[in-house]
Amino acid sequence: MKYGPNKGTEIKYMMKQRHELTNNCDKPLTIVIGAGLAGVSTAYALAARGVPTLLIDEGSEPASGSSHANAGMLTSSMSSPWNSPGLLWQVAKATFGGSSPFSIRAGQMLKLAFWGLSFFRSANTRHYQYASKMNFRLAQYSMGRTRALRTALNLEYDSDSQGTLKIFRDHKAFSRAIGLARSMCNEGLAFSVVTPEEIIQIEPMLASKIGSIIGGIYYPDDESGDANKFTQRLFDEFVRVGGEVRFNTCIARIVEDKNGIVGVETSAGIVDCKQVVVAAGHASVGLLALNSISLPIKPVKGYSVTFECKEGYLPRVPVVDDGNFAVVTPLGSRLRVSGFAEFSGNDDTIDDSRVAELVSALDNIYPSIGSRLRLHEAKAWTGLRPVSADGLPFIGGTSIKGLFLNTGHGHLGWTMAAGSGHLLADHMLDQPAEIDIRPYQIDRDYF
Ligand SMILES: Cc1cc2nc3c(=O)[nH]c(=O)nc-3n(C[C@H](O)[C@H](O)[C@H](O)COP(=O)(O)OP(=O)(O)OC[C@H]3O[C@@H](n4cnc5c(N)ncnc54)[C@H](O)[C@@H]3O)c2cc1C
Repeated sequence: MKYGPNKGTEIKYMMKQRHELTNNCDKPLTIVIGAGLAGVSTAYALAARGVPTLLIDEGSEPASGSSHANAGMLTSSMSSPWNSPGLLWQVAKATFGGSSPFSIRAGQMLKLAFWGLSFFRSANTRHYQYASKMNFRLAQYSMGRTRALRTALNLEYDSDSQGTLKIFRDHKAFSRAIGLARSMCNEGLAFSVVTPEEIIQIEPMLASKIGSIIGGIYYPDDESGDANKFTQRLFDEFVRVGGEVRFNTCIARIVEDKNGIVGVETSAGIVDCKQVVVAAGHASVGLLALNSISLPIKPVKGYSVTFECKEGYLPRVPVVDDGNFAVVTPLGSRLRVSGFAEFSGNDDTIDDSRVAELVSALDNIYPSIGSRLRLHEAKAWTGLRPVSADGLPFIGGTSIKGLFLNTGHGHLGWTMAAGSGHLLADHMLDQPAEIDIRPYQIDRDYF
């Protein structure tokens, strides 16, 4: 057994907790690490089916990591991984000062070495099409699960079902996106290619800058909503069905012996358990490395700025502006603009120039919107997406008995959260699942 250093009285406290937990039920405890979208969705799916579950997070509340203020879009339409066949060119352009949503900060090149090789190796047509389809299946399934939870539990998270609108200012990018959408038709992607006039009908507030927009694609099945509120509400339900929780508690190590998982070593002591789910976002990598599991995930930094509406109407539909590399999402009485994909390691500090770029992108899309928003109360945020090298998440078991994964969802972590949690719970409980888990398991084949 590989237990770490003794932590004295704190351990006794945790042992008391453990004793209470095992006293309450005769089934062994499952620990979920991480109270973001992935962790809370998994913890709820387990606890709701009677599995004694303890959720642990180093933060002080649910959704304190990358799930805190994301773009708020549930978009099976955007299931393609980021490593598209043209990616290498885009990164090169960004590195030499051109415009691209991607950037690699100096000093990160070497750190990206192995992951980067795998990332670029997956940037081929065959893998791209395969990963897009597998992500789409999971995304569609997950959005169905999100709707089911919303209805069954009466969850309030500023949800909307208006679809999303992608607008284009560049002919090449427009025809590439149409081709991609067509290739997903057989999988069930609904979309319509729209003219500038039709764009104004879908989102009248785009009228003033319509001259620079050549066309768009409307995806009617997409949804939107505040991921943070969803996570908080689902967390409340997790507690209501008997789930246990420890915040401000950092997991230092997952403990195994030759028969599998035996516990976790935390900042407050050791907790025994038979099963662990790692849903710690990009930090999953460091934790699993201690158990000799190598997870090809890197943090990719993004930004959002959220405004309260002062007066008048806000846009109705979430808009993805391909030319400005920005997404603008209405969330109840708020408007959020998001963007950027920076490889800058674990750095989560806010760069004011990035915030200014997002505000200016918003102004470009909706020139008159400033007067309707409380600009001085804007909330800037940055988060680190857990991006896998082959563009697919990791859901399922590992080579260690009792150790499970639910992480690596990259830019689709909100879209895929409810489904990934449910799918993993089905797998752990050996129950039939609605979709095949194999494409997301860690031992999948890479192309
Ligand atoms: C700018 C931006 C916009 C985005 N927009 C969208 C979108 O529109 N649609 C979409 O589908 N997705 C979007 N995403 C992606 C989505 O937000 C992420 O994929 C998702 O939040 C990942 O959730 P998670 O639960 O895996 O990780 P996190 O939310 O990061 O949760 C991990 C948790 O683990 C905890 N933790 C880590 N290490 C430890 C430890 N050792 N001990 C205890 N706790 C630990 C952390 O405190 C954290 O709370 C966006 C992301 C960003 C950054």
